[in-house]
Amino acid sequence: MKKIIPLSRPFIGSAERKAVIQILQSGKLAQGEKVAELENKFKHLCDTSYAIATNNGTSALHTALHAVGIKPGDEVITTPFTFIATVNSILMMGARPVFVDIDENTYAIDPHKIEAAITHKTKAILAVDLYGQPADYDAINTIAKKYHLPVIEDAAQSIGATYKKKQAGNLADISCFSLYATKNIMCGEGGMITTNNKKYYKNAHLFRQHGEVEDTRFVYDGLGYNYRMMDLQAGIALAQFERLDRITNKRLKIAKKYHQELAGISGLVLPYVQKNATHVYHQFTIRITSEFKTTREQFIAYLGKKGIGVGVYYPAPLHLVPHIARYGYKKDDFPISELASLQVLSIPVHPLVSEEEIDYIIDCIKSY
Ligand SMILES: *Cc1c(COP(=O)(O)O)cnc(C)c1O
Repeated sequence: MKKIIPLSRPFIGSAERKAVIQILQSGKLAQGEKVAELENKFKHLCDTSYAIATNNGTSALHTALHAVGIKPGDEVITTPFTFIATVNSILMMGARPVFVDIDENTYAIDPHKIEAAITHKTKAILAVDLYGQPADYDAINTIAKKYHLPVIEDAAQSIGATYKKKQAGNLADISCFSLYATKNIMCGEGGMITTNNKKYYKNAHLFRQHGEVEDTRFVYDGLGYNYRMMDLQAGIALAQFERLDRITNKRLKIAKKYHQELAGISGLVLPYVQKNATHVYHQFTIRITSEFKTTREQFIAYLGKKGIGVGVYYPAPLHLVPHIARYGYKKDDFPISELASLQVLSIPVHPLVSEEEIDYIIDCIKSY
């Protein structure tokens, strides 16, 4: 059988192995110095005043929504074309997700459609940097200012990306990263919140640990959860952090080659990068339109036979997922997201795909 080129694979080396052994030997596995060290790395990278590590990206989003003051019955504006955690975190607050369709080029929320979705119940805008490219934050933040709404950035896929020279993680009022196994840098499971807002920081800090007031024991201020990251996770993430530039550059190099070699194929649309942004290609996502020689599904079957791992992110827009459609959504509500879910296709772009494998993938696509 042909060797399979996986769609994603984490880069794990001796630094990660050493960190795990060292932390195991130290006997201090739970949140401690390593987590604090990782928080400092994120603060430095994003140039924010605060960073708070969590046990995963979903808990980071849940915590951020709490931090900005979302209450049951509030409305949070977001995109239906994202990973389900974005929207589930809104549901976890008892709030209502109000969807706005995406921009067909960037796949992120279309700022031109946000204002029409704002009501007196709107309490936040949650934008997603899909596939590794920041959303259009100048436009989003301008509308948010006008209506006094906080903006939350779901930066789970965009670590290292920039928008107008500012880092993902510092493009909104509060931002959330994921360090899940398939993300650009990872520790199996992990999350991080970054913000410049002291009140949001304090709220998030309480929420992460049972509502316990900072620098106290057994003094509580409201309901909190246990969303702490382990030092064991932070140790792996710290080793990954040192590789961030190399990982990003490798992804960019592969993406550049795809852009050069796959341009001009009828019905195959390559990723679009906004003028003022950089893309870190968490996914290299192409689009198979009706002008392509076959259907996307036939093309996926062909690539599968060639041993090339591909993925569809995401096969259903979230307003059509049953527990979310209950909020009053139906087919045709968000046509651009619905069409995207039928047309997108992600091909391998992770740092462990070799140059020969990239050439092979390009050849397979060209000779289809
Ligand atoms: C991965 C991801 C999350 C959730 O992160 P977990 O660490 O898996 O909980 C949230 N939003 C987006 C866009 C993601 O890609």
